[in-house]
This record gives sequence, C-alpha cells and structure tokens, in this order.
Amino acid sequence: MKKRVLVLGAGFGGLELCTMLSESFGNAIEVTLIDKSDAFTFGYSKLDVMFGRATLDAVKVPYKKFLKPGVRFLQETISSIDPLTRRVTTDHGTHEADFLVVALGADYDFDATPGMRETTEFYTVAGAERLGKILPTFTKGRVLIGVCGAPFKCPPAPSEAALMMHDYLTNRGIRSACEITLILPLETPVPPSPETSRALLAAFAERNITFVADREVRSIDNQRRFVTIDDGREFPFDLFLGVPVNRAPKILETSGMTEDGYVPVKPKTLETRFPDVYAVGDCARQGTRKAGVFAEGAARAVATSLIARLRNNEIPVTHKGTGSCYIEFGAGRIGRVDVDFFSNPDGPTGTYHEPSVALRADKEHFGSSRRARWFGI
Ligand SMILES: Cc1cc2nc3c(=O)[nH]c(=O)nc-3n(C[C@H](O)[C@H](O)[C@H](O)COP(=O)(O)OP(=O)(O)OC[C@H]3O[C@@H](n4cnc5c(N)ncnc54)[C@H](O)[C@@H]3O)c2cc1C
Repeated sequence: MKKRVLVLGAGFGGLELCTMLSESFGNAIEVTLIDKSDAFTFGYSKLDVMFGRATLDAVKVPYKKFLKPGVRFLQETISSIDPLTRRVTTDHGTHEADFLVVALGADYDFDATPGMRETTEFYTVAGAERLGKILPTFTKGRVLIGVCGAPFKCPPAPSEAALMMHDYLTNRGIRSACEITLILPLETPVPPSPETSRALLAAFAERNITFVADREVRSIDNQRRFVTIDDGREFPFDLFLGVPVNRAPKILETSGMTEDGYVPVKPKTLETRFPDVYAVGDCARQGTRKAGVFAEGAARAVATSLIARLRNNEIPVTHKGTGSCYIEFGAGRIGRVDVDFFSNPDGPTGTYHEPSVALRADKEHFGSSRRARWFGI
C-alpha cells in the first residue's frame, strides 16, 4: 500500500512541502493537500491591493493550477484533527494518514480587542480590499496604523504600510493635510536587525511619521474614533489601519494540539509531541518569526526528513531558521534583511541590505519564482 501524507493548509508551508514530495516520489506515494480556499495569495499582495497597485483578481492564484504528480488538492474546511490517530474531519468527510503535516497558518482573533471587529484592518484579503476602496475617499486627517498584539505575521509589514501610506498621500498631493502614526508592540521595527531598525526609524523621521514603540492597541472606539493603548494613552484617528491579534486556528486548540495559543514543535525538526505529526509555519512555535519565507523553510526541512524516512535513510536535521524579508521603503525602493534565528546562541541576527530599486527586481523574483515552482505560471 502507498504511504499517505496528509498536508493541512495550502499556504507557503503546505505548497512547498507538497512540491518537494512530488518532485521526489511522483505517484509512488499519496499526498493529499487540503485547504478551505480556492486560491493562494502572497501576504504582501494585501499591501498592493490596499494601495490600489493591484486588483484582487490579479494577485489570487487559483489552486486548480497546483498540479503535481502524486498530489491531490481538496477544497474542504477542516473541522477537527485527531493527532493520535492522524484522522482529520472536514465538511466533506474524513481522511487518514501515515504522516500528518499541519500548516494551517495563523488566524485572527477579532474579539480579543474591543472594536476590532467593526473597524478597518489590512491583514485579511477582504480587509485590504475594503481599505483599497476607502483610501481614495480620504482627503485629510489622522492615519493610525496600530497592531493589537505580538507575535504577528510579517513584523515589518506595519512599517511598510506607514511608508507606503506616506507615498500614497504625497502622490495625491494631500500629505501635508495628514498625520501618520504607527503603534507597534515591538521595541524596534525589526528586532533581529538593529541596522534595519535604524534605517526604518530614519525613514519615519524623514517623512514625519510618528512611531510609538513597544505598545499595543487595546481597544478601538469607532464612534468617537480613537484607540486606547496598553499604557492608557488615547490616540485619535480619522482612518485606522489595524492588525488584529494573531492566533493559531481555533480547531488546533480544540484538537488539543496547542499550548499558549500555538502548536509546540521541536524547532530543528518540526516534530510535534504526537508521533508522525509535524507542524510548520505560522500555526507552530517553530523558533522563527511568522513569515512565508520561514514557513517555507520549515516545510523544506520536514519534506527532507519525510523523504529520508520513506526511503529508510538516515533522517537529516535541516531546519536552519534562516530567511530573507523584503521591506518596502517607499519611493519604489526595497530593502532586505537576511535573518538567522538559530546560529547565534544569544538570539536572532539580521544582515541589512540598503533599499534600492534593484532589490525590487529581487522581490519580484521572490514572487514569480514561487508562482512558477508551485503553479507553473
Ligand atoms: C500584510 C502582510 C504582508 C506580508 N508580507 C510578507 C512578506 O513580504 N514575506 C513573507 O515571507 N511573508 C509575508 N507575510 C506573512 C505570510 O503571508 C505568512 O507568514 C505566511 O503566509 C505563513 O505561511 P503558512 O504556510 O504558515 O500559512 P498560510 O500561508 O497562512 O496558509 C495557511 C492555509 O491554511 C488554510 N486554512 C486555515 N484554516 C483552515 C481550515 N479550518 N480548513 C482548511 N484550510 C484552512 C488557509 O486557507 C491558508 O491557505 C505577510 C503577511 C501579511 C498579512
């Protein structure tokens, strides 16, 4: 009987894992990939949609284009997981596996912050699209970008939103009629790289963007239009760009897989405490920040280990916890930070690459190479 690998979630982690298994085994094993959506979207596309640089249709990549020998994609919603028996229930039935990989990403807890459910946010595709419609009607006032708690996906994204907002308002000739404030629950914009943080702080200062460090938004009053942060201060706004509290999907909690909100794993191997069950990416506590590039790196490590196990080879440990994040600095320039989470025992380190127009091509390649590898387009 063919070995069965069940992969939950077709994001960065799930797509890369299935691609590697298909490259190694083709039809010799049975890989099932389940996702509730019909299309994949890169996280950063939300910024493009919000600022009117791209339409939603242009940035969505339909899963029907994910065609890999030996891999079956099912559009189903997972309702429960039994990690002991590796049995998964969806709205269409049940699935069983020899190996289970959970790659369900991080969800948003809109009820954790009073007022969040009714306000505007840019961390979901729908939220970014909604803000994309509101922005052209905004002509003056206070723009407030606020994060409701850490950890959150792609720590540089709110800083990018602030810099892109500056450009957007400047291009419309209304920047002098507007204020931009960024509230972040981090001491610096990119903690593993002091150099990147310094560059971002300088960019904020040059553009008259107010940065409130190490604070989180605790409530939003959408009638009177102000937020309250965790030290009791209030910040008024005319336009709010929120980032909700992130958490692992609820079903992982009800399935008994989480501790303190996320799935604990051994960072180097991504093994959970359940035999033959792995977890990768934003839903796991995998020792890195929450970003696609780190979900993909973890998936590559699990795929390498599964390939070895299925071939009865020695199992290598390959999760390096490294990855590059591109950062929009505005004015068409992109910076890059190469982060290494595991090599230095004193904590993560980052190498900063100054923003340039040339790095924009690098970022475009990041997206286009994955579109080509996963979807053949
Ligand atoms: C504004 C913004 C900008 C970003 N920019 C970058 C960037 O420049 N670079 C970068 O590396 N990362 C970036 N990210 C972060 C990146 O998008 C995520 O970290 C990454 O997608 C995580 O990958 P993952 O595989 O863990 O989960 P995801 O990609 O989130 O995939 C999880 C999948 O699980 C599915 N799922 C969840 N629950 C269920 C269920 N019950 N049943 C079925 N399917 C389910 C979801 O539909 C989803 O497709 C950004 C994020 C945001 C919000």
